[in-house]
Amino acid sequence: MAIRNIIKEGNPLLREKCKEVTEFDDKLGELIDDMVDTMFKANGVGLAAPQIAVLKRIAVVSVDGETIYEMVNPEIKVTTGSQLSNEGCLSVPERYGVVERPKKVVVEYYDRHGDKYKVKASGFLATAFCHEIDHLDGILYIDKVLPPKVKKEG
Ligand code: ZN
Repeated sequence: MAIRNIIKEGNPLLREKCKEVTEFDDKLGELIDDMVDTMFKANGVGLAAPQIAVLKRIAVVSVDGETIYEMVNPEIKVTTGSQLSNEGCLSVPERYGVVERPKKVVVEYYDRHGDKYKVKASGFLATAFCHEIDHLDGILYIDKVLPPKVKKEG
């Protein structure tokens, strides 16, 4: 296991569309372990493979520091409602912004062994899933940030 270097906004690799994983081998497991270690070391709640310069459809998420979602080839199947959340990104340091996301999602993905899972998520976990899955298509949350609301006088 190893801590990987997290690349930052401006690096063109963050704007690439990532490739599906087809080999569920030991190397995939090692990569996922590195991603989890790197995410926790950076105090993040999620990390996508392109953030460590690996252009594969893999994301890890842990919003409570206990349950770790390891998602290979994740796909958002259903979205319901909408919510606003304050987001940041390990690849966009020291910045935050409000993004509108679905309130609930159903995500299908594979684990490191190639077993298929389907999870329902709501609230912050749904936001984290959407944020990380966006990374796999070269999308950063800053592309979706809403302009700050200005309170009108009078
Ligand atoms: Zn991010």
